[in-house]
Amino acid sequence: MKNDPLLSAISSNEPHRENKPQRNLAQKLVQEILHKIENKVLVPGDKLPKEADIMQEHGVSRTVVREALQRLQASGNVETRHGIGTFVLNNKGQGPMDLSFDYVNDAVEILELRIGLEVEIAGLAALRRTEEQLVEIRKALDALRAIDRNGHVSDAGSADFNFHLLIAKSAGNHYFVDIMQHMENSLVPRKRIDVSHVNHEHEEVYAAIERGDSYAARAAMRLHLTNSRERFLKLARK
Ligand SMILES: [Zn+2]
Repeated sequence: MKNDPLLSAISSNEPHRENKPQRNLAQKLVQEILHKIENKVLVPGDKLPKEADIMQEHGVSRTVVREALQRLQASGNVETRHGIGTFVLNNKGQGPMDLSFDYVNDAVEILELRIGLEVEIAGLAALRRTEEQLVEIRKALDALRAIDRNGHVSDAGSADFNFHLLIAKSAGNHYFVDIMQHMENSLVPRKRIDVSHVNHEHEEVYAAIERGDSYAARAAMRLHLTNSRERFLKLARK
């Protein structure tokens, strides 16, 4: 994947919107494949045609096919098993993902914005939270742990957002809450969350806020969101 234009645009300082025609082709291909999934032409468990066959059928390059498959994988619609092929996943409960935007770039950009915002939020929350607010944050974290135990991962996104929003509410500045709520609509990366990984990081954030340690709360939040960004990039690279 070294030469993938999408990922190299993310990891370099070049403008993200480079190579737009190719992007649009990949997006178009994503939508065509999603359309087949919606219309049950492709059903869960089905293997997608080989790269070369998709290239021929749609008249696109290998790079475009790979980019489209990465996006479909990042959104949880397909899964690539190395050396075997790409399969349609059972995406029950989530419905087909809205991929009408540049999925990976948007996800990474939103996480970058959240790092800027939520590191400060965590620091202030450690200083300003009330006992009642702390109880609410604890409850949100317990809900996330329950999701981890019972495997209802499709609920994880909103439970995770709730945890972050409650921390913002504890920062004692309603502008933070306003921005977080605005972001909720475009909070792309919360679609697929590996709860067991993130809960350990969440506990660190919580513990620092509980003991009023602003410095540690900031560090823990930065680590959590930076790791989320890495997890997301890894998912897209697979
Ligand atoms: Zn989180």
